Amino acid sequence: MNPMEEANIWFAEAHDEGVALTFKITNHLFSKKSAHQRIDIFETLSYGKMLVLDGRVQLTEKDEFIYHEMLVHIPMLHHPAPRRVLIIGGGDGGAAKEAVKHDVESVTVVEIDEDVVRAAKEYLPFTASAYDDPRVHLHIGDGVQFIEQSDEKYDVVLVDSTDPIGPAEMLFAGEFYGKLKRVLNPGAVVAIQAGSPWYSGDVTAKSYRLLRESFRDVRIYLAPIPTYPAGMWSFIMASDAEMGEPRPITFSTRYITDDVMRGAFALPRFLLEALEG
Ligand code: SAM
Repeated sequence: MNPMEEANIWFAEAHDEGVALTFKITNHLFSKKSAHQRIDIFETLSYGKMLVLDGRVQLTEKDEFIYHEMLVHIPMLHHPAPRRVLIIGGGDGGAAKEAVKHDVESVTVVEIDEDVVRAAKEYLPFTASAYDDPRVHLHIGDGVQFIEQSDEKYDVVLVDSTDPIGPAEMLFAGEFYGKLKRVLNPGAVVAIQAGSPWYSGDVTAKSYRLLRESFRDVRIYLAPIPTYPAGMWSFIMASDAEMGEPRPITFSTRYITDDVMRGAFALPRFLLEALEG
């Protein structure tokens, strides 16, 4: 047995004052206080490698595919022919890895923290391999500044950010959604990760209301993510075009199917009530 495994070391993320999810750690591979956040990469006994930012689990090797497939493919398949994709956040490469499964011309990743990208390239090749694809371009900088200054236009914009505390706070603000318009091609589809509807239904509901102020067609969908708080996560997709039926899936996936895609838009009563609230 390796000494760390024997030492019985556990990482806990508190989900509220009385609940935490704990992982048995077999190796602490990387730790750094970057200019933006604390970055840790652990080897866990049950979920493989795990990226943690400021004490919050961002992804694990075992279940990242659920989050990334759901964030990326649902909006991509609701666009008739997405060619140019912008990912804000997502420095681990996981969203880009899914985006290049489509017939895209370019995928631009705008990540504020270069250290997340460096660490992912070294320890998380199962997501960071996306950077080997010549269509994937990395821009280190703040997503808000990028959309204020960019002259480029995109068919799909994905906000794969940390939660709205710290550097990601502005990515959840109403002004940001309004500004996004400047980088959108006609008919573009936007999708954001919108937090845990169980623990922060208010954040999900607020993002939904703000997106509705800026876009014509706005829809929430959910996915079960074992290592995220409450195991249930929300996403919001928005467009100024009326989004019709999604195109069928024609590439290999491990989670999403055409039926999963349809079912993901069914929302539980408590969330519908938070949206009305
Ligand atoms: N799947 C994750 C989740 O919801 O737990 C998100 C993962 S990804 C690692 C989030 C990334 O967003 C982080 O690397 C963080 O540095 C980046 N980020 C936060 N604020 C940002 C901003 N304003 N502009 C660009 N990237 C940002």
